Amino acid sequence: MLNLESEIRKLEMSGIDMLHFDVMDGVFVNNITYGLPILEAVNKTTGMFLDVHLMITDPLKYVPRFAECGADMITFHIESQSDVMETIDAIKKCGAKAAVSIKPATPAEAVFEFLPYVDMVLVMTVEPGFGGQSFIPETADKVRQIRSKITELGLAADVQVDGGINAETAPIVINAGANILVSGSYLFKAADMAEAAAKLKEVTPSV
Ligand code: ZN
Repeated sequence: MLNLESEIRKLEMSGIDMLHFDVMDGVFVNNITYGLPILEAVNKTTGMFLDVHLMITDPLKYVPRFAECGADMITFHIESQSDVMETIDAIKKCGAKAAVSIKPATPAEAVFEFLPYVDMVLVMTVEPGFGGQSFIPETADKVRQIRSKITELGLAADVQVDGGINAETAPIVINAGANILVSGSYLFKAADMAEAAAKLKEVTPSV
């Protein structure tokens, strides 16, 4: 925690637009992270937009706590055990933006009925649970299907991708219709994070 402040300053200077927090309970995915204390500390340190991705079994139960700790947006999985509409409502009631996410094996259609109620859809481009995995190319089709449904319905929801995003995969997902890219390993392993972030941000749709 001693280096938190200097790490946050580095992130603020890198040109990225928001901080993405992966929260895992060791049940919904086979990994555990302790989200709340870190989120609270980060929230006290920066004014950056805090995007919280809950990979937990019962997100509804924890929505108010994450909102209290500074989450500006809360994303949860429709594969979790919580009622989807109830969870979306709970997030909005806390004043945060609401988003739903799907794992690679879940079809795009599964989120269609919720599109009018969410600010964003997160399409997992790797199996959730661990960083450093390779992008699953088939997930780009789901991004495309969800983006066209959003357009068809005349909505303004964002489409986020998470997993294996780097300078090579960014054009694939952006062309498919994603407009928010989560990048972990690619940015953190880069010699110059700002330069790596700029590379992702300069990708524009080529179709
Ligand atoms: Zn994530």
